[in-house]
Amino acid sequence: MLNIILMGPPGAGKGTHAVWIAKDFNIPHISTGDMFREAMASGSELGNKIKEVVNSGNLVSDELTCALVKDRLSQPDCANGYLLDGFPRTIPQAEAFKKMGEEIGRGVNLVLNIGCPDEILIQRIAGRRVCPQCGASFNVNTMKPKVEGICDECGHELIQRKDDNAESFKVRLANYYKSTAPLLDFYKEQGLLADFDGNSEAATLKAELTALLEAKK
Ligand code: AMP
Repeated sequence: MLNIILMGPPGAGKGTHAVWIAKDFNIPHISTGDMFREAMASGSELGNKIKEVVNSGNLVSDELTCALVKDRLSQPDCANGYLLDGFPRTIPQAEAFKKMGEEIGRGVNLVLNIGCPDEILIQRIAGRRVCPQCGASFNVNTMKPKVEGICDECGHELIQRKDDNAESFKVRLANYYKSTAPLLDFYKEQGLLADFDGNSEAATLKAELTALLEAKK
C-alpha cells in the first residue's frame, strides 16, 4: 500500500510528479493547494475566508487545513493508498495528521522529498503556467505545452497562479524554511523519508521515483 506524502519547496516539481504518480499507481492525488484554489474559484464561504492568505503566500490555519484533509482522507477512494501533495506543512499539522491517520487506519508509510536550490525555484515559478481544470503544470521556458497557452492533458486554457509572483514567492519560500522544512527531520526520525534531486532531468527523476514506488507498493 502506498500512503504517500510528497514534500519539497514551492517549484520543486511536486505537482508535475504527483500527476503521473497518481495515474501510474492508481491512487488519488490530494493537493491541499488545489482544494483551496477550487474553494476560492467557487466563491464558497471557505474560499472567501482564505483568499487573501493564499494569494499573499501565507499559510491557511492548521485547524481549517486539517479538517479539510481528514474529510478527504476518510473518502472510500483513499482506502487503497493516497498521494498527499502540500500537506502537512507545519509540525502541528504533521502531529494532527499522525493522530488522524491512526484513527482512520490510513497512516503514512512513505515520504518523498524533492529538494531544489532556491535560484532554480525562483526561475521556475516565474515561468510556471498551470491548468486550472486538471492541475497539470507547464513552464514557458523549460516545459512548454504543445500549443502555447493550452493544456496538453485536457485542452483547457492555462493560467498563471496569483501567488506565482516574486513577492508572494518570497513569503512562500520563507514559510517553507521556517514551518515546513523541519518536517523532514520529523519523518527522517520515523524512517519514512526518501530524498530526491528536483534539479535533475524530469525523466531521470521519474525513473528514480518509479523504482522506489515499485519496490514499496
Ligand atoms: P500549493 O499549491 O501547495 O503551493 O499551495 C498554495 C497555497 O495554499 C499555499 O501557499 C497556502 O496558502 C495554501 N496551502 C496549501 N496547503 C496548505 C497547508 N497544508 N497548510 C496551510 N496552507 C496551505
